[in-house]
Amino acid sequence: MKILVINAGSSSLKYQFIDIDTKKVLAKGLCERIGIDGKLTQKVSGRDDFVREDAMKDHSDAIRMVIEALTDKEVGVIADMKEIDAVGHRVVHGGEIFSGSVVIDDAVMDALQQCVELAPLHNPANIIGIEACSKIMPGVPQVGVFDTAFHQTMPAKAYMYALPYDMYTKHKIRRYGFHGTSHKYVSGRAADMLGKKIEDLKIITLHLGNGSSITAVDGGKSVDTTMGFTPLAGVAMGTRCGDIDPAIVTFLMEKEGLDEKGVNDLMNKQSGVFGISGISSDFRDLEKAAGEGDERAKLALDMFAYSVKRYIGTYAAVMGGVDAIVFTAGIGENTAMMRAAITDGLEFMGIKVDAELNKVRGEERDISAAGATVKTLVIPTDEEMMIAMDTAKLVK
Ligand code: ADP
Repeated sequence: MKILVINAGSSSLKYQFIDIDTKKVLAKGLCERIGIDGKLTQKVSGRDDFVREDAMKDHSDAIRMVIEALTDKEVGVIADMKEIDAVGHRVVHGGEIFSGSVVIDDAVMDALQQCVELAPLHNPANIIGIEACSKIMPGVPQVGVFDTAFHQTMPAKAYMYALPYDMYTKHKIRRYGFHGTSHKYVSGRAADMLGKKIEDLKIITLHLGNGSSITAVDGGKSVDTTMGFTPLAGVAMGTRCGDIDPAIVTFLMEKEGLDEKGVNDLMNKQSGVFGISGISSDFRDLEKAAGEGDERAKLALDMFAYSVKRYIGTYAAVMGGVDAIVFTAGIGENTAMMRAAITDGLEFMGIKVDAELNKVRGEERDISAAGATVKTLVIPTDEEMMIAMDTAKLVK
């Protein structure tokens, strides 16, 4: 079975074409500048990148060009569009409606519309991507896979905010959590690596990338996670502030003369390790600057490691123990220095990383030191594979 995975953003669209039986990515690509001019780049292993610059006036155009690239006689990987058995769509927000992936029909499309107010920047693009696929590939089953779904197992005591209760009933204000597809994938892989049933494990998954979130996965279920009503909450991130005293928001609006957009921009785009260092949101730049003695870059890295460590303690307490912690995403998969800083001093919990084994980048490895009672694992995330797997399961 072959699955097309679509991740549609407001002006871009990423895709992967996956053979689910062999778990092989046959082609992957990116459409950029949709609605502006248009550029498609497709990568196929062992071949030169295929680039096509052509007008893409909307997402429908982009999907049509994706199909053309996949079926092209020279640069394509399939002879006929009929080889696409199903399409799996990443959808950012499923609200409280979706606790798992679903085959898309009219009722689901209506429900997706209801979730737009919760993710006004992301869900509309996802919906347009789905509509464009139904138009171009009528009859091909389509599946929605939600960033929020995995976290729907959280108990009310974890997802409720201590605001007046009717703020929840009226406005759906609660913790939803994000990166669910990634947390689900890496916790499943961790169980495989440890040769144990996921039902028997308590795992803390650390998705540390441009956006970062941490999840407590107890018996395969998310029981708490750091992102909240929006992806702004939790640990400090590239440019997002993470948890702050909520009273700072109105204080800042007054002192800096900011409106809602201004204060949102400040917290989402000018904060995090970028805001602290004044240098970059990219950890490669920060490690370099800190190495050259820049104090604020060093502070940004220290703050990041500290905020992640704090949640390892919190989630071990929440689950009454921990069997494994998993590092994933751009930072988690690539920076030995950050993994060492985060786990430093956690020997009392049984967490200890082997300095030699820690020298790894972008591959699955158990980096625990001898005698560590809690396993520390590096597991590259693969959200597209997870989406393809869910899609295949639902349409079989
Ligand atoms: P996104 O949230 O955009 O999917 P990623 O998971 O790809 O983000 O993570 C991107 C971030 O990972 C970069 O901004 C950078 O901080 C970090 N990163 C990637 N590679 C490295 C590396 N080799 N060393 C240190 N940090 C890295």
